[in-house]
Amino acid sequence: MKFDPAKAVQKLEQFGEFGGVNPSITDSSTFTFLGANTMLDTFHGETEGCFLYSRHWNPTNKYLSDALAAMEGTESAWVTASGMAAITNAILQLCNSGDHIVSSVTTYGGTFAFLKNYLPKFNISVSFVNPTDLNAIEKAIKPNTKLIYTEAMTNPLLQISDIPAMAEIANKNGIKLMVDNTFTPMIISPYKLGAHIVVYSMTKFINGKNDAVAGAICADNVFINSLIDVNNGTAMLLGPVLDPLRSSSILKNLNTLHIRMKQHSKNAMYLAEKFAEIGLKVSYPGLKSHPGHELMTKNMNTEFGYSGLIAIDMETAEKAGKLMELMQDKGVGYLAVSLGYFKTLFSNSGKSTSSEVPEDVQKEMGLSEGLVRFSVGLDNDIEDTFQTIKSCLKELKYI
Ligand code: PLP
Repeated sequence: MKFDPAKAVQKLEQFGEFGGVNPSITDSSTFTFLGANTMLDTFHGETEGCFLYSRHWNPTNKYLSDALAAMEGTESAWVTASGMAAITNAILQLCNSGDHIVSSVTTYGGTFAFLKNYLPKFNISVSFVNPTDLNAIEKAIKPNTKLIYTEAMTNPLLQISDIPAMAEIANKNGIKLMVDNTFTPMIISPYKLGAHIVVYSMTKFINGKNDAVAGAICADNVFINSLIDVNNGTAMLLGPVLDPLRSSSILKNLNTLHIRMKQHSKNAMYLAEKFAEIGLKVSYPGLKSHPGHELMTKNMNTEFGYSGLIAIDMETAEKAGKLMELMQDKGVGYLAVSLGYFKTLFSNSGKSTSSEVPEDVQKEMGLSEGLVRFSVGLDNDIEDTFQTIKSCLKELKYI
């Protein structure tokens, strides 16, 4: 039977200590012990069910982590104060000085900057490859490669990573495959497709409210326990833990994620088809014209659709800017970075969330300076939204 991430979350019974239907919030940084020896054993990771200190584990974070692990089908998960904290801590846990990473060249700009500019400080090198070119990935692997890094659906080009094939390459070489699934929660289940570690910016679809910055790392028990090892765990020692008050609010939002993803996808599919009809250069993995359409269809949990991101190419940054300003004026949504919000957001990726990527690399990867990335909202009347966008395009004489 096909994996159902929504059912896995729904089946959890997580109620509070007084029977509250939402788990109680544990608003404590430290925990009492009745026995001194139990504290010692907890420090050494030899007791189960005891909480020591909230930088390590907190019961509220554990509820959210358990729900994320259920959604991904992993043994465990750990929640962080941002998506970047999840990505950087997971990478630093795996890689030591002298190691090498093969990464997709198209990633979120912050991830690219970390890999390109920051990791050399630790003598960790990175080869950037086109994520849709499996030969290039295989060729880039060296004896000191520890990790293949990619995004399930890349930001902002919306390329689709062939996770099973990448996992096969990783396994053959005895290395790990880490996948950022921020754009496609529930839609793609990277761990079920063979990835070893799944990372998220929960700031986006998972939370869906744009009121918090948060992240998650989902993996097996061995990896999660290594991250929080008191002697040398990267997360334990660098301290990127999520605040439990936020964990509590994100957990409630996670329980509506499946419905939101369906609506984001439905609206995005409608807009993408209409954009194509009026002759815009549109990229959406749900369209047959998208080079990753078949691959995504094969690997996805179909009922959640093709996600809520669309890219249109307006050719120049100036044209993109004028369109976004007018769309904001007419109430289509907001000219803002980020995604996965209940309102539509749009930004010019090359000049915003991918601006860390040098212009020549942007050109090489096929990122047009006029690319407008839409994160389509939960609009009830998407036909009306389309008509408004069309009137903006007409007013500017773009169509
Ligand atoms: N991964 C992807 C795909 C993103 O789009 C982002 C942010 O835009 C991040 C990671 C970073 O997440 P955060 O902003 O929560 O640190």
